[in-house]
Formats: sequence, structure tokens, C-alpha cells
Amino acid sequence: MSKESKKIILLGPQGSGKSTQGEVITEYFDIPSVSSGNILRQAIADDTPLGRKVAPTVNKGNLISDQDMIEVILEELKKDKYENGFLLDGFPRNIYQAEALAKHYTIDKVFNIEIADETAIERISGRRICPEGHTWHIEYEKPQEAGICDICNGNLTQRADDQEEVVKKRLAIYREKTAELLDYYKDRLVIIDGEPPIEVVKRSVLDYLENNNVR
Ligand code: AMP
Repeated sequence: MSKESKKIILLGPQGSGKSTQGEVITEYFDIPSVSSGNILRQAIADDTPLGRKVAPTVNKGNLISDQDMIEVILEELKKDKYENGFLLDGFPRNIYQAEALAKHYTIDKVFNIEIADETAIERISGRRICPEGHTWHIEYEKPQEAGICDICNGNLTQRADDQEEVVKKRLAIYREKTAELLDYYKDRLVIIDGEPPIEVVKRSVLDYLENNNVR
């Protein structure tokens, strides 16, 4: 990857540690990340017209319409802060979205953080989040006081779409569509094993960047 190539996509099932691994990449290149899920959750929390439109779908764990999602992401990417690139997390989710993106941007690398479904379910159903978006886990990343965020003292709750049954559905949807995306991006795909502890996975992402990059 050359110094200029900084348009990156991060794939991986929910619970693969994508946002943590994404931070390694965004810090390395000094680029912002764009999480489609966060944009939608923020719109829902702010009760915007978009939020009201997508809330029932997002809360059930289904994908919102390609048209709406593409519009939201392309609008977001026009902002000045993405001038030197971006890391996309959660978008594209299927070939149709990938093709819409390709009309405007050339993607340099696609990282796929891979984990087994059982690992994903265990990790996600234990996840708890505060109103400011700090994330904890009832087993792997416990806050000092159960149910309270160490950082902002906010109450921790479970995202509606993090409940086990919903997670299973989201995973099934993810598997079905991602298979075709992996094929679509096969010439720029980097596969990372997401099963080991977070620090080990971080190291493999960083190793890849350091060994394959001209800074
Ligand atoms: P995530 O945090 O990426 O799992 O996204 C949470 C939810 O937002 C998903 O379950 C979908 O309802 C919606 N969503 C996020 N990204 C997309 C996308 N690329 N296409 C359609 N719906 C999406």
C-alpha cells in the first residue's frame, strides 16, 4: 500500500472486534472511520427523520434499504474530514452497495476479521453500552461497578439488536451477503484471524500494515 492509498473497508461479523481493530488502522494512517451502524444509531437517538424511518428495521436486526444506506454514506463521505481517506466499517454489506461506492471511490484494501459464529454470539450477547457509546463486556471487559460506565458514569444497557436471537439473525444475514463481497474484493483482500485475544489480533493487523506499507 502506498502512502496515498488510504481508502479502506473493514469487514467482519459483529463481535469480531472490528471497531478495535479499525482503530489500529485509522491511527496508523491518521484517517477517520465511518461506521454505518453508528450513523444510524445516532440518527435514532437524535430522533431525526432518518432515525424515525430506520429505527424499526435496525432494532429488529434487519438491514435498511440499500438506497437509503448508500445515500447516507455518500453524503457523509463528502465531508472535508475524509479528504485524505477513510475506513469504512459496516458498509458495504452487499455487492449492490459495493458497486454504488465504486462509482465514487477506489478502495485500496479490504480487511476481513474472521471469527466463528459461536465466538461472535458469546462476545456480542455480553456486550453493554452506555449512552455515550463506550462499550463494555460482562465477562471480557468488565466495568469496575456492574452496570455503570467507568468513563462517564452512564448506565450500561444492552443494544436492542445485541440480544442473542437478534444476533443470530444478523450473523446469518452477514454470512450470506459477505461471501459475495469477499469474492468481489478478492484482489485487495487481507484476511485476519479474529479468534485470538484482542491484543494478538491488533498485533497481526499492525504487522500487516508495517510489512506491506511504504510510509
Ligand atoms: P452494525 O453496527 O454495523 O451491526 O449495524 C447495525 C444495524 O444498522 C444493522 O443491523 C442494520 O440494521 C443497519 N445497517 C448498518 N450498516 C448497514 C448497511 N451497510 N446496509 C443496510 N443496513 C445497515
